[in-house]
Amino acid sequence: MEVFPGVHQLKVPIPDNPLEYLNCYLLQGDRGWLMIDTGWSTESSFVSLQAQLSELGLSFLDISQIVITHVHADHYGLAGRIRQISPAKLALHHWEKALIESRYVHFAELQAGMGELLQVHGAPPAVAKELKVASEPVLGYVIVTWPDQVLYGVETISTGQFNLQVLWTPGHSPGHICLYEPEKKLLFSGDHILPVITSSVVYHLQSGTNPLGDFINSLKQLQHLPVNLVLPAHEHIFTNLSQRVDQMVQHHEERKKAILGTITAAPRTAYDISGLIPWNLPDTTWEQMPPLHRRLAMMETLAHLQYMWFDGQVEIVNRDHIILYKRAGKD
Ligand SMILES: [Zn+2]
Ligand SMILES: [Zn+2]
Repeated sequence: MEVFPGVHQLKVPIPDNPLEYLNCYLLQGDRGWLMIDTGWSTESSFVSLQAQLSELGLSFLDISQIVITHVHADHYGLAGRIRQISPAKLALHHWEKALIESRYVHFAELQAGMGELLQVHGAPPAVAKELKVASEPVLGYVIVTWPDQVLYGVETISTGQFNLQVLWTPGHSPGHICLYEPEKKLLFSGDHILPVITSSVVYHLQSGTNPLGDFINSLKQLQHLPVNLVLPAHEHIFTNLSQRVDQMVQHHEERKKAILGTITAAPRTAYDISGLIPWNLPDTTWEQMPPLHRRLAMMETLAHLQYMWFDGQVEIVNRDHIILYKRAGKD
């Protein structure tokens, strides 16, 4: 589907996932096409992408550049396979490059560290053992490949017809980037800004100590850009950027309130707090939530707690190597 003159949106299926599709964008260039995000590596996504290219009279040989917004499997997974059969050069942020090896190649240390982190934040040992391996299936959806160019957030990537400013927008992932075309007023927002759902911001071993603070800052950095169309990596294209940023900030304010409401009396761990606040899975208790959901939920709670700690709203209590949070000023 041509969504703007010279910009096509291809929908790459993500099987068994409520998001359903990854929006891959193809931008026309003087010497080949630029692809933003690829989808994850399954045979069906590959075949679907191939078929959509061929409907446009194109093949993978016509792709000269691939830019990845961040290395989550649904954005980066297929890049390795496409590069085997195309001349495309790959670009991504240097922080994302740093995640590739530890997540997708030598992942045992990261997994062990995750187990420790879960326990330090209150998960019982048996639960930590289950949750730490919960993201392992994702490894099957990634063909590892390395970038030809690393980005720092100051570059302009040109196709000859589009000039895309690279904007570093950490939060959802530490090296997440958006791409901004100032003349045509287009913003390719990756997972940073979606029109309906709020993408997850989780605390983890590679997130830095205040990922939600990073996220909110990088939302505000984009809020007043002159933009006519926001082209996200999931859901649909939208126009009301500034309003959407306000809604997202508001959403996190409400989550913070819900979390604070659980620590009015005694300090609690992130694990215990996560079991007390509502989650978006109808008719499912905390214990019934699938392990990966539970882990992400807990790490999301932690991102909010850390944000409030930086803000002075909560304090950290260290009790026998377990971290608890309490309201600031309460003993
Ligand atoms: Zn993502
Ligand atoms: Zn995504």
